[in-house]
Amino acid sequence: MLSGEDAPGQPVESTPMAQGHSIEDYIETIYFLAFPVGEYRPQTKGAPTLAVRVADMLGVSRASAGEMLKRMEAEGLVERGEHKEAILTPQGRELAERVVRRHRIIERLLTDFMGYTPAESHVQADLLGDTFTDEMIERISERLGNPDRCPHGWPVDTTFEQAENRELAPLADLEAGARAEIVRLAEHDGELLHWYYDEGLVPGTAIEVREADPESGNVTVQIDGDERALEERAAAGLFVRAAA
Ligand SMILES: [Zn+2]
Repeated sequence: MLSGEDAPGQPVESTPMAQGHSIEDYIETIYFLAFPVGEYRPQTKGAPTLAVRVADMLGVSRASAGEMLKRMEAEGLVERGEHKEAILTPQGRELAERVVRRHRIIERLLTDFMGYTPAESHVQADLLGDTFTDEMIERISERLGNPDRCPHGWPVDTTFEQAENRELAPLADLEAGARAEIVRLAEHDGELLHWYYDEGLVPGTAIEVREADPESGNVTVQIDGDERALEERAAAGLFVRAAA
């Protein structure tokens, strides 16, 4: 499917991509990467291009990600910057905001109404994809009491989300002695998301950084007298608000 000629005129929505990733998964990932607090740091050194980061986050090959970015460019959803990085066009940003908002409301439907755990809800919401129309999403949101955030702390209102980004930092950026509250969890890596819940590293939890090793990126935090050791990848996916 992905090899051979690019077909720029083809409607991407109807084209299932490698490993089952839809255009919505990609646009969600690019949206996540486009905003500073959403910095995801692959463990590889150097300066990976955005296509590589998208591929890394979605667990697809660079070729698949590159192919999809080309298609999205042809669809007018992204444009390529000076360093070939993907930048959302206004049209792409509008779609991205719609997609993430819908995803967050569906996650709340799954946890609040269907009894899924927060750790389970992300992948289940992905499965539902665009099952619901925009109108259904509005009705669901209303029935749920218009929730402010998804179970992992991401605001349903993307304007608020982008404003709040400025107040947050990845745990990986904090120094020893810093105190903070966990606000959001990176949710793209299902295994990591489950681990956060297993370890009690969930939104609303107060933490204190005991050790932060700039070399390895490993962080040790204290929660309620207990210590938790986080590897670089885990520390990069926890977004916190520093205590005043
Ligand atoms: Zn979520």
